[in-house]
Amino acid sequence: MMPETAPPLPLPPAALRLRLDHAALGANWTALDALSGAARAGAAIKADCYGLGATEAVPVLAAAGCRDWFVAHWQEAAEAAQIVPVGQISVLHGPITDAEATYARALGVRPVLNSLEQVRRWLAAGGGPCDLMVDTGINRLGLRVEDIGDPAVGALDIDTCLSHLASADEDSAQNFAQLARFGAVASAVRAKRYSLCNSAGIALGGDYHFDLTRPGLALYGGVPRGELTGRIAQVAFPEAAVIQVRQLHAGESVGYNATFTAPAAMRVGVVSVGYADGYLRCWSGRGQVLWQGRRLPVLGRVSMDMTIVDLTTAPDCGEGDWLGLDYALPGAAAASGLSQYELLTLLGRRFAREA
Ligand SMILES: *Cc1c(COP(=O)(O)O)cnc(C)c1O
Repeated sequence: MMPETAPPLPLPPAALRLRLDHAALGANWTALDALSGAARAGAAIKADCYGLGATEAVPVLAAAGCRDWFVAHWQEAAEAAQIVPVGQISVLHGPITDAEATYARALGVRPVLNSLEQVRRWLAAGGGPCDLMVDTGINRLGLRVEDIGDPAVGALDIDTCLSHLASADEDSAQNFAQLARFGAVASAVRAKRYSLCNSAGIALGGDYHFDLTRPGLALYGGVPRGELTGRIAQVAFPEAAVIQVRQLHAGESVGYNATFTAPAAMRVGVVSVGYADGYLRCWSGRGQVLWQGRRLPVLGRVSMDMTIVDLTTAPDCGEGDWLGLDYALPGAAAASGLSQYELLTLLGRRFAREA
């Protein structure tokens, strides 16, 4: 006989939750669309909307007015195609096999073609509307500028001709160089639309905007350039429950490797978040969690599933109470040494993603 497996039961509530501020998310798209001037803003929704959950976030962006969606992988395209019209979806990694080209045509999404090889593969598969990425200096994905005159490129039905900025979050001469190169590309490549900017690029000004911008980070609350401060609101609010309260005696240590020792008797809370959830060990001894407007220090090492915090200034905080992680992104990035992108995309699968 097969061993008995558990019957289906309703789950108790999760001890980790990720609240999405829908109003802030919609307002961030509206602000970035306005900052894009005559260009329209689309949305980079790859990596499950930077970890926030595409099924929750994409409908909010669509309701705000977004009509252009950028994913990286074909699996992400399939998920997005369940939520928005297929003709609005572009797949940044492009078809690296014939099977992917066939899949793109069958699904009806646009591949972003990134090399002459991909251009030829797309035409051989039957072609149809596509996007074209031209590399103007990041040397990551994209056709070399020398190759844009190839007859195969001339045979394409290009919706959007793209390039990607390498240093838009800095005041770098590379931005001007890429803008100049992309201007030349736009005169030479026939396409319905041209698109250069990510979130940071939008803040570089009107010359950079062309027809379509592709913000990701700033939609989700990231602030990659000072110009966006005050115009972008926090969207992701991760919270974790206190699962045990302990009284420490003076001289007792907490956590792996005993990196914190109580100087006096104190009350601490064990919180249900750890590095497996994306709350990495860089927060050990220096993170803070939020409770009723108070900031409570992280004590000792962050472990896989738990983090210990100081409840000295929160005597009424107890087991089952929810603590907010400090996820105001620019400050959290400075405090942790992680990038704002990493902070978002690290948030793990154990967070219940909710409105
Ligand atoms: C991820 C990505 C974006 C979005 O960039 P952000 O810096 O998150 O705004 C735009 N374009 C391309 C090609 C990307 O890969």
